[in-house]
Order: sequence, then structure tokens, then C-alpha cells
Amino acid sequence: MNFDEIIALRKAFAYVKDRQAKNVPPDLKEKMRRVRNIRESSVGNEALLKQAIRKLEQNGIRVFRAADKHDACKMILQEIGNEKLAVKSKSNVTKEIDLTSALESHGIKVIETDIGDRILQVLGRKPSHPTGPAAHLSARKIAEGLSRYYGTDIGQEPEDIVSFMRDEIAGYLKKAQTGITGANAVTAEEGSILLAHNEGNIFEVIRRKKHIVVTAIDKVYPSVEEALNMLKVISFHATGSLIPSFVEIISGVSKTADVEKKFFKGVHAPEDVVVILLDNRRTEMIANGFRELLYCIDCGNCLLHCPMYGTIGNDFAEEKYLGGKGLAYKSIAEKEVSKKLEFCLTCGRCRKNCPLSIDAPAIIKSIRSESLPEEVYYFLKSHLLWLYYHVRLKVG
Ligand code: SF4
Ligand code: SF4
Repeated sequence: MNFDEIIALRKAFAYVKDRQAKNVPPDLKEKMRRVRNIRESSVGNEALLKQAIRKLEQNGIRVFRAADKHDACKMILQEIGNEKLAVKSKSNVTKEIDLTSALESHGIKVIETDIGDRILQVLGRKPSHPTGPAAHLSARKIAEGLSRYYGTDIGQEPEDIVSFMRDEIAGYLKKAQTGITGANAVTAEEGSILLAHNEGNIFEVIRRKKHIVVTAIDKVYPSVEEALNMLKVISFHATGSLIPSFVEIISGVSKTADVEKKFFKGVHAPEDVVVILLDNRRTEMIANGFRELLYCIDCGNCLLHCPMYGTIGNDFAEEKYLGGKGLAYKSIAEKEVSKKLEFCLTCGRCRKNCPLSIDAPAIIKSIRSESLPEEVYYFLKSHLLWLYYHVRLKVG
């Protein structure tokens, strides 16, 4: 990231922190404790997962379990069939399986419908935050890049950019028959899929003829009530608001039996909902003692408080794996320790500001060094690196 991008990122992060400070819910601690307890009892709970699958299927939703990314991409390709266009909403699991490149290599055009994600897709840039992916780009930079890409002059005010992108995305939404989303939660009691959004794009993505939900086995919650509590905790920590603008609770397909009690699917849309539940080494991670990493609800609050991330931004990241927690996850899931973990100062601010108190620094220490002298070396190296970049940032 360059100097301007770090400044833009810091500004965006300061804005979220300010909103958080003005908006603290009175029972936030209790809500956080509840999410932690639920994650402890649900992640890796095969009986709960099986109950969720059974309930989803009873609701008319087709469910598949994918062992790895190749498996998942193959299933999704089969579901898309001969269609040449798919619209999608923000989803970390689709990034994990490199879904867009897999579909594009089969001639399927994939359009992101979240404004920030579509901007990054067009500009070919990396995200800097799980829910505010373009937080590091100024409106001027975005307008310049988009104007070059589309060959037309786009105004430099945020409103001009949003209005241009919204119209562009709307054109694809009208044509697409397949909508792909992630899921914030899948519930065992009701067999429901929960999706939170602020932009309203998900209304349209899930109303395609076919809705494909790409999620992971660790997204199971016992009930809608517990999932909603988690969404409030994410919302506050990701954006500083008490609840997202919209929460979709999907528990079936569009159907009716209003005329002579004859049952029809697909009155409006979707007529088909498919859930892909990805493992991709999660079961192995749990068995190897890294269950805590899977408790993460992707709120991104750890990034807002990480001194290294605030100094070098998403250079302390690899693809969608942002900051210390993200890199620790990638290192374990891909069985190759990321070189970028040497940037971690093991200061503990991420753990302190994590709503689930996930101890990323302890996990980082355990995977990047095998002995105390080695950890002393990393401690000194990370602090020197931080000082170097910090001074460079200060002198501009
Ligand atoms: S411990 Fe590492 S990842 Fe966590 S806040 Fe400090 S520098 Fe960032
Ligand atoms: S580690 Fe904690 S703070 Fe960071 S994204 Fe996950 S839940 Fe949020």
C-alpha cells in the first residue's frame, strides 16, 4: 500500500471507531459472551451440523458437503449449468475457494454486486477490510481508475461513483439467472440461512431463478435467535452500527398452494436454493487444536486496532487473509507458514479488541517459532520493521 492509501485506511478506521464510541449497546459484553459460548459449543459440532442439514432439506433446500475448494467449485459449476453469467454478493468463502477465477476459466462472467467489491474487481485491487473492502482507496483514486476502465468521465464525489456503479451492477442483475451469496449463519433449529447487508444488493441476488449459498461447516448456529445476536455483534464491531440495515432469513424457496391447494415452486424467485457446505481442512484444524481460529465472525475489529496493519495496511495480508489472525489461519489451513507473520508485534491488541477474545498472538507465536530465542528474534525484527515503516509514514 502506498502513503495515500494508508492515510485513507486510517481515516476510514478512525470513522468506524468514532461511530463505535458513540453507539455502545448497554449489554454489549453479555452479547459478546453469548456469541463466544455459542461458537465454543457449535464449531465442530457434527450433530448440530447434521441437524441443520436435515432441517434445510426438509425446507426444500438442497445441501451438499464439499471436502475442499476443487469439490466446491465443481459442484457450483454443475449447478450453474449452461448459464454464462452469475451475480454474487460479498462472501469470504467464495474468496477462499477462488470461485471467480474457477468460473471465469469456464467462460462464466461473475459480477460482484457489493459496490466496494465491484470497485476492487474492476480495478484489480486487494481488499483491506472484510466488510469495507475498498476502505484504503480515496474517491479521487477510484474515480480515476474507473474512468480509465470504462472510458468515460466519472465524477470524483462518492455519490457520483456509487451512482455509476449501482447502474452498472443493475444491468447485470436484470440479466442473471444465478445468484451466489455466502451466509452469515445457517441454523439447526429452523433450517434457515441468515444473510446481513446494508446496500440492499442481496435482495436482488437472492431473487435470481437459482440461489447458490456457498458457506462453511463452521457457520452453524443452534437457532435464529443466536444467529441474530451474532449479527448485532458483527455489525457493531464492523461498522459501529447496532444492527445491519437488512437481515434476510431464508428458509425455503418461493412457493404457493393458493389455487386448489395445488403446490407450485417458483411463484416469484428463487425456485431453487442450494447450499454448499465447505470443509477445506476445518475438521483437521479442529482436530489439531486450532478450533479457536474458527470462532472468528469476520468483523474486522482486530484490524482497526492492529498497529502493524495501521502502518502497512494490507501488505500485512495475503489475498483475503488480512492481518495477524488471517495470516495465522492461512498458514494453518494451507500448511505453510506465511512469511508475513514476521510482521506481527505480538502486542495483543487484536485479542483485546476481538469480541470473541480470540488469542491470535498466542497462535502466531506457536506457529512461527519453535523456541524462545527464535521468538525473541521475531519480536525484535517485527518492532524494527514497524519502526521503519512508521517513520517513513511520518516523513511522508
Ligand atoms: S498481536 Fe500482531 S496481529 Fe495482533 S494487533 Fe499486535 S501486531 Fe497486530
Ligand atoms: S479475530 Fe476477532 S476481531 Fe478479528 S475478525 Fe475475527 S472475530 Fe473479528
